[in-house]
Amino acid sequence: MDLVIRNARLSDGTSLVPERTLMDIGIADGRIAAIAPNLPVAGAQVYDAGGRLACPGLVETHIHIDKSRVIERCAPQPRATYSPVKGVTPIKDTMTLEDTRQRAERTLQECILHGTTRMRTQVEVDPGIGMRGYDAVQSLIDDYKWAIDIEMCVFPQEGLTNYPGTDELLVEAMKRGAKVIGGAPRYDTDGPAQIERIFELAREYDADIDIHLDVGPTPDGLYVHQVRELTEKYRRGGRVVVGHMAKFSLLPPDEVAKIARGLADAGVAVTVLPATDLFLMGRNVDYAVPRGVADANHLCAHGVNCSLSSNNILNPATPFGDCSLVRMANLYANIVQLDRPEQLHECFNMLTGRSAKLLNLKDYGFKVGNPGDVVILNAETPVQAVSEIAQPLAAFKNGRQTLRWNAPELLRP
Ligand SMILES: [Zn+2]
Repeated sequence: MDLVIRNARLSDGTSLVPERTLMDIGIADGRIAAIAPNLPVAGAQVYDAGGRLACPGLVETHIHIDKSRVIERCAPQPRATYSPVKGVTPIKDTMTLEDTRQRAERTLQECILHGTTRMRTQVEVDPGIGMRGYDAVQSLIDDYKWAIDIEMCVFPQEGLTNYPGTDELLVEAMKRGAKVIGGAPRYDTDGPAQIERIFELAREYDADIDIHLDVGPTPDGLYVHQVRELTEKYRRGGRVVVGHMAKFSLLPPDEVAKIARGLADAGVAVTVLPATDLFLMGRNVDYAVPRGVADANHLCAHGVNCSLSSNNILNPATPFGDCSLVRMANLYANIVQLDRPEQLHECFNMLTGRSAKLLNLKDYGFKVGNPGDVVILNAETPVQAVSEIAQPLAAFKNGRQTLRWNAPELLRP
């Protein structure tokens, strides 16, 4: 055994069983070799978790590291007509390869420091940014393998059918090996045609799909029905994710439940992006502003797999952010008004096991043979982690410690 993490309460986000028993995790050659109480430690490096919560790493399923940290460059906009895309489009020429790499790297470092060990990042390709975002993120994937596994989802932010040259760049990204393709039909003059084309490219390059979907001031014109139909038609169940679904927050729960059961049957997962939807929704009214965030717990209860993710950091879609997924779950729980322990536990699952399933990660979880990925949080249970926004104190990737925060202490006189 190379490393033994002692006295941890394990939660890999797939079980609702309370984490009562203190366990040790033994890691050899970068992989989990044993999970049991009181493992022999002879010769191994030892980390004592002191009864704290351990998870196999937080999973960021949806973030845009390529366009993070540009808020100070963007022109102010009126509240009612505010558009994140209108904010970013004019500054794309300032987003050189080196600039994009530097901004994305800072955001990536913050994600790692907040306990994220796996990530799907959305990457824009269009004639305005070319392949610069793709190239910047690609270089970071290799440089940060020691701490995090990253995959890219390439997508057209400013329209596909109405923006000549974008399709060719998407194809270029798929040829270079992008494993996931996304979309933003809301910003296309022909949203349904964009969705059709995304499914076509996904079939051609055998890619997973992860589309931004159904944000807007009314619940009308849901694209999610088309996505479900195409998922069924082309048998892509389990490989399709829709992000946002903010319009669900404007529908009665029984109508959402009906749609949710259809998504569950088709194998379409949902990522809720609380910070962005809270910031952008409801700008059509001056007061009694709706919260605009879909209730992922409600969707889970009807069989849909869901994750909670950060989406944007310090840009016009979300001018805030510390890249803390635990804080994101806490924000979400406030917005959708959760208070029961099982609900808060489910929030933690949506940062861990459910997220890993959504990304089709086959080697996530506390199981012998899986990578030696362990994150220690300054809490004893998932519920406490979400309620109190617990700080990750240590992370291990493939059995090597990648970060350390010291737990705060009072210095009495
Ligand atoms: Zn997004």
